[in-house]
Amino acid sequence: MSSDRSAQEEVLAPRKAIAALRDLPEYDLTPQEAQDVADIVAARTRRFRFPPRLEEDFQAFNRASSRNARIILAVITLLSFASAALWAPALLGSAPSSSGFVLAMELLVVTPLFAVVLWLLWKRGERDSTEWLMLAAYCIEMLVIETMRHHSDASGFPVDPSVGVLVPIAVILMARPRFSRTLMLLGAFAGITLSQAWIWQEAPNPHAASSWIIKWLLPALVVLASASSKLALRRQWAAALLLRVMAHRDPLTGLPNRRALEKHYEAMSRAMARGSRSGRMVLAVIDLDHFKKVNDLHGHEYGDGVLIEIAVALSGFARRPLDMAARMGGEEFALLLYDCDEAAGRERLAALLETVSGLQIENRGATLGIITVSIGAAAVPAEARLSEAYRAADEALYRVKDAGRNSYELVRL
Ligand code: GH3
Ligand code: MG
Ligand code: MG
Repeated sequence: MSSDRSAQEEVLAPRKAIAALRDLPEYDLTPQEAQDVADIVAARTRRFRFPPRLEEDFQAFNRASSRNARIILAVITLLSFASAALWAPALLGSAPSSSGFVLAMELLVVTPLFAVVLWLLWKRGERDSTEWLMLAAYCIEMLVIETMRHHSDASGFPVDPSVGVLVPIAVILMARPRFSRTLMLLGAFAGITLSQAWIWQEAPNPHAASSWIIKWLLPALVVLASASSKLALRRQWAAALLLRVMAHRDPLTGLPNRRALEKHYEAMSRAMARGSRSGRMVLAVIDLDHFKKVNDLHGHEYGDGVLIEIAVALSGFARRPLDMAARMGGEEFALLLYDCDEAAGRERLAALLETVSGLQIENRGATLGIITVSIGAAAVPAEARLSEAYRAADEALYRVKDAGRNSYELVRL
């Protein structure tokens, strides 16, 4: 048994090839993951985070789907600051030398910074690092706005103290950052506002109460609103994920279905083209022998149970990350073995025949009195199409059936 495992590990797919599987649009959830996701969809749990791997995928989805809104917000910010040359002198007054400093911050720091943010959102909006940079830029913007606001008081054009809160609110509503980062952004807003007030020793604000409400209560409400809409988004995404998973599974046996095999085959071809030792993969078509008699003798339910047992046995032959066992329909299964030459393929198929007959599932109508299978297989190069591989395997299967069943034939394409 252990030598069997080491033989499997020896031909284990290279990392690069496993990475190719990430191209697959559907997911292979573990039973626990599927349960967690289903609980979130049905609101059966207080948890809302997905298992780690899926959480990352959800965040990537969130970044991609809010990309346009992020770009629009960055454009608005960029335009407001780039046009500062027009409106800032009036706002800041002409006299204080520090107004020149603020103007320089706007034109030489904030404007170029947002030009970079815009470019990054445009080109690399899907990256997590872009979200970090975007949030850092908004923090700098908040700092500049607070400084401007202070100078506006001195210049006789007072600006409402709560104007700075527009930034975190706009970012939370439009850019939809991760929740923890939303809180960090608000923390930065509070830190900047309080420290600036302390540094400049501002006089007490006559509208303190209303400005307090706007400055602190409004963002709190916005955070709550955005959290609840994020939760709805999570549920939608999770429901779509479950549907996608179900569309690629056979409901009786839980094995991947024909559609999943087709997609997997394509991903494997790409992975093989990037590098494999043997340069071949094996596609085997597995058909139960005299299965109609099982149903006739024992009933359909017994037949269903047999199919499940065969599925379990077959999965044992597809344990490497890129191998796949699938149910093609009826009593026909397929096994796809990655990076597998003819000799290794023959060995696996012979072992499979032995495992199935070793299950000793009763089938009185068959030659041996137990369930057996017939296997047709093709060892194909990376560039072979699935239809070619399937046709060759199917023809081999017919020959095996004609020759008396409970055997395999493997052809090389
Ligand atoms: P052969 O050895 O030539 O393959 O004979 P066979 O009887 O297996 O082949 P045939 O195609 O004549 O019959 C397939 C049978 O599989 C017919 C159908 O009743 C049964 N079957 C197909 N799908 C299911 C299923 O989901 N559950 C059950 N219980 N039986 C199924
Ligand atoms: Mg059959
Ligand atoms: Mg059949």
